[in-house]
Amino acid sequence: MLTQAPRGTRDVLPQDSYRWQYLESRMRQAAAEAGYREVRTPVFEHTELFQRGVGDTTDIVQKEMYTFLDKGERSITLKPEGTAGAARAFLESNLYAAPLPCKMYYLSAPVFRYEAPQAGRLREHHQFGMECFGAKDATADAELIILAYRLISGLGIRNLSVNINSIGCPECRPRYNEMLKSFLHEHETELCPDCRNRMDRNPLRALDCKNPQCQKVVENAPRLLEWLDDDCRSHFEKLQACLRAMDIPFQINDRIVRGLDYYTKTVFELITKTENGNLTVCGGGRYDHLVEQLGGPDLPAVGFGMGMERVLMLLESEHIQIEEPGVVDAFVTYMGDHALEAFRLVQALREAHVRTDMDHTGRSLKAQFKYANKTGAIFCLTLGDDEVQNRSVRVKDMRTGEENTVGLDVVTGVITDGIQR
Ligand code: ATP
Ligand code: MG
Repeated sequence: MLTQAPRGTRDVLPQDSYRWQYLESRMRQAAAEAGYREVRTPVFEHTELFQRGVGDTTDIVQKEMYTFLDKGERSITLKPEGTAGAARAFLESNLYAAPLPCKMYYLSAPVFRYEAPQAGRLREHHQFGMECFGAKDATADAELIILAYRLISGLGIRNLSVNINSIGCPECRPRYNEMLKSFLHEHETELCPDCRNRMDRNPLRALDCKNPQCQKVVENAPRLLEWLDDDCRSHFEKLQACLRAMDIPFQINDRIVRGLDYYTKTVFELITKTENGNLTVCGGGRYDHLVEQLGGPDLPAVGFGMGMERVLMLLESEHIQIEEPGVVDAFVTYMGDHALEAFRLVQALREAHVRTDMDHTGRSLKAQFKYANKTGAIFCLTLGDDEVQNRSVRVKDMRTGEENTVGLDVVTGVITDGIQR
């Protein structure tokens, strides 16, 4: 128990964190290029925010939330997705008073869902998400889809498909919902208990139910795309025109409705084919009424969430190499009782911003060398009696095996230059 992490959680160990950092830097770069700045919101929020924001007919709110009473008897929930918190921060700090849109992203944000753990499904996972508040044009939807697509395919991940759909708006969806409801009622006995339960309150969800029986039923259901009003239709067409203009391959998939209640118009998913079936790495869409629903102004918005573990999983399964940076660039070894001289040299190199280490465990010189090798150091520096006497140090370039004696007064310059090569 004591040495076992809770089910569905995962450590990122020191030897693996470079993979996360690589991904994070690519994500930061992509977001910055599109004018998005980082937002950080708390790991927990008032439960009501998610009930209101995410919607209480969703799987997330009905089954998956980590909710508890704190010592002040307040109902608190660990973030089950990123958008509601971002929208809450946007409202609380009146960010809508500044020129819009307000573009923000979050990175490695922990997300908690009580799910059955399996490959690509954790109880704590992390998301890279982007949100654009106050932009109604389809160009905003398109820039997010293109950014996510380029980010993932730019990592070398293949077999990526962009699936888009429009689920209309409160003007046109109710008409469709009525038709879908009566269709579902006709087939009630063939539907799973979940779909039956929510078919009156949220019939759309039957369209993306994973139960094969339900999937078969909805094959013949009326098509929402045929019922869009003019505004939703032209928005959807403009989105497609933007994607075509940038040669982004996409498909219209009218089974994608997304799990969250707040979506309007555009919804999309980026799906990859893996040996174990399809994997959704990114999902998002437009949520033009969320801000108002949370008590703010009537303000359109669009965004996505990308599962970082899923992206890392794909990098691994496709054997995409990420350069491992090594632990340090320089390692200082010493003979006899020259630990203090070695320590000084280590500090001097660190002051020159060279990643440097030395032995702290009393190893023999030979073992220090062996250990230096394991750290991936480019240079191994050695202090013996002669070197200390002459205020110099032996410098071995581990790439070439070349060795030189260098004066202590110039050694940091020699090392910083040498690393660049
Ligand atoms: P799924 O249909 O796979 O349950 P979802 O629709 O619940 O996904 P979103 O709410 O759209 O997922 O979350 C955005 C992204 O976060 C997903 O596309 C996925 O990459 C990732 N994600 C969601 N749930 C998990 C989880 N339990 N473990 C790991 N990653 C997850
Ligand atoms: Mg889910």
